[in-house]
Amino acid sequence: MRILLVEDDTLLGDALQAGLRQAGHAVNWVSDGISAETALMTEDYAAVVLDLGLPRMDGLEVLRRLRAMKNTLPVLILTARDTVEDRIRGLDAGADDYLVKPFDLAELSARLRALLRRAGGQPSSLLVSGEVTLDPATRRVECKGKEVDLSAKEYALLHALMQQAGRALSRTQLEQHLYAWGDEIGSNTVEVYIHHLRRKLGADTIRTLRGIGYVVARTESQP
Ligand code: CA
Repeated sequence: MRILLVEDDTLLGDALQAGLRQAGHAVNWVSDGISAETALMTEDYAAVVLDLGLPRMDGLEVLRRLRAMKNTLPVLILTARDTVEDRIRGLDAGADDYLVKPFDLAELSARLRALLRRAGGQPSSLLVSGEVTLDPATRRVECKGKEVDLSAKEYALLHALMQQAGRALSRTQLEQHLYAWGDEIGSNTVEVYIHHLRRKLGADTIRTLRGIGYVVARTESQP
C-alpha cells in the first residue's frame, strides 16, 4: 500500500520511512503542509501519516482542506501536542486516529493496518480469496493451507488486490501500490509480478479483465 508520510523532523521522518517500508508499504515523504496538499491532490494513496506541527501549512489545515474536498482517505495524525483539546481538534478536523509522540513504530504499523482494514471494508484482519489467505499482521500468505513464499513486491501487489477483492485494479493503480517516488518502474513489471503470483498461487487466482485491469474473487473471510 502506498502511504503519504508528512513529517518535518528529519530524524523521525527517516525512521518512519524506514519502518513503513519494512512493513511493506511504498512511502512518499514530504516535510511541509503545502507539499502534502499537492501530493494529495495529484496522487493516490492508501493512507496518510500526518504530523501536525509543519512549516508552510499546519497539519490540521491540510486535514481540514482534504475533508472539505470530501476526500475520505484514512488519516493518522502524529502529534507532540498531547493535551486532550489538541487530540479532540484533530479528530474533529477529520482524523481517523492519532498517536502522541514519542510512540512505538510497531504501534504505528498496527494502527495503520487497522485503518486500512476499515477503509477496505474488511471485518477481520485475515484477507481471503478462494483458497488463498493473506494475513497483513504477519505478512503470511497461504494457498490451500500451505505457506507460500512471496517477494516484497509480489506480496504488495497481492495485498492490494485482496484488500479490494471483487474490484478490478488497473495497472497504473497497482504500480502506485508498488512504487514510491524516485523508484525505477519497468514497463511491464506489474505483468511480471502477476505472472509470478499465478505460478505460485494457481493460474485462476488473479483474473485479467481486458482493457481494465486485474481482480481477485471476493470471498467472505472466516470467523
Ligand atoms: Ca513537526
